[in-house]
Amino acid sequence: MTKRSRKKKPKRSKGHSRGQHQQKLVKKVQELYRPGAEEAEWEDELGELVDPGPLRPGGPSAKRGEPAREATAASAAEEEERAVGDAVRGQVVELLSGICRIEREGRIHDCALPSRLAEEQQSRVAVGDDVLFELLENGGHRVHEVLPRRTTLSRPDPQNPRRQRVLAANVDVVVQVVSVVRPPLRPALVDRFLIAIERGGAEPLICVNKVDLLPDPEERSRELARLGPYRELGVPVLPCSAKEGEGIAELRRRLTGRTAVFVGHSGVGKSSLVNALAPELDLETGELRDRWGTGRHTTTGSSLHHLASDGDDIRVIDTPGIRELGLFELSPEELRDHFPEFAPHAPQCRFNDCRHRDEPECAVRAAVQRGELPRSRYETYLRILGSLEEE
Ligand code: GDP
Ligand code: ZN
Repeated sequence: MTKRSRKKKPKRSKGHSRGQHQQKLVKKVQELYRPGAEEAEWEDELGELVDPGPLRPGGPSAKRGEPAREATAASAAEEEERAVGDAVRGQVVELLSGICRIEREGRIHDCALPSRLAEEQQSRVAVGDDVLFELLENGGHRVHEVLPRRTTLSRPDPQNPRRQRVLAANVDVVVQVVSVVRPPLRPALVDRFLIAIERGGAEPLICVNKVDLLPDPEERSRELARLGPYRELGVPVLPCSAKEGEGIAELRRRLTGRTAVFVGHSGVGKSSLVNALAPELDLETGELRDRWGTGRHTTTGSSLHHLASDGDDIRVIDTPGIRELGLFELSPEELRDHFPEFAPHAPQCRFNDCRHRDEPECAVRAAVQRGELPRSRYETYLRILGSLEEE
């Protein structure tokens, strides 16, 4: 591998306008110009602000919602030290047929996929993957190797349910968005997603959006209590309002420096929340809804975006296929493992291999009837069990 130049890390997507940029610059100068400030610190920090580089992929006028592909093309000079055949590391931000877009130090490279990877796109290589790629003699790039994944978010291939499609790789947090009132809270999808998230290794986080529509504290806590079973399972439940800002700072804190995917029914406010996390990007909701909400543009695959907010980067992978998330080769036994709250009761079932459905003397069912286990979770369990048996 070639020695990397000691250039500062290029700025990631920054959506602020020139005016905001200037204000920031003035503020930074005031902050830095204080007795005893290290000169180097000065130069380093100011350098970034004085030379904002590409403010964000596609330049200052670019709207969020565009994949990072709009980043300035790497110029020959910037590629100075890369020699043909050298493999360097980058991250897949978008997959198209036969090629993928790879981000490395804020720049995007279109890379050819070797046929062994191209044939199994979405399973062997996915958005979010860390890869080694190399510069070819003709000046192009080619993916050399996909590095081991930390996590995956997958669903069965619609054409072949036995095959797994990786919608996103290396996702740290899956934000499950539900809403109250409009549309009303429907936790059933949460259970399905929890299983898929758990299997892929990412962390779940439940965002209850639109709490501004429940101004009455009693009514609000009654509604939020319906998510109590998830809190008990250790899943954080965050009440928030994309509209009024409640919970947004906490959401940002939890996502900063991490890669997230937002999932949930249409209309619950996924795009509004992403918007609220990056207000300075001044996004157009309609355009966002096109990309995030209504499914009109689902032909495109996943893509990775940066939401920079005052230097805190949050990566969001937009995965249009997410709503059909099914469960890949899950056995009824595995399904039970994903409902750990049943476990303390299961030993009292009459049968060792009780599926807790219509078996006689089922202790789990009895516990639900006594109100010791949440009925909503049990019903979801039965629904998923039923769908597994159909397959
Ligand atoms: P998505 O389909 O999940 O991406 O949902 P959108 O972000 O497009 O939001 C759907 C609708 O809910 C829009 O009309 C939003 O203005 C509205 N909405 C989103 N967040 C909130 C919120 O926190 N409070 C209220 N009252 N409305 C919201
Ligand atoms: Zn049972």
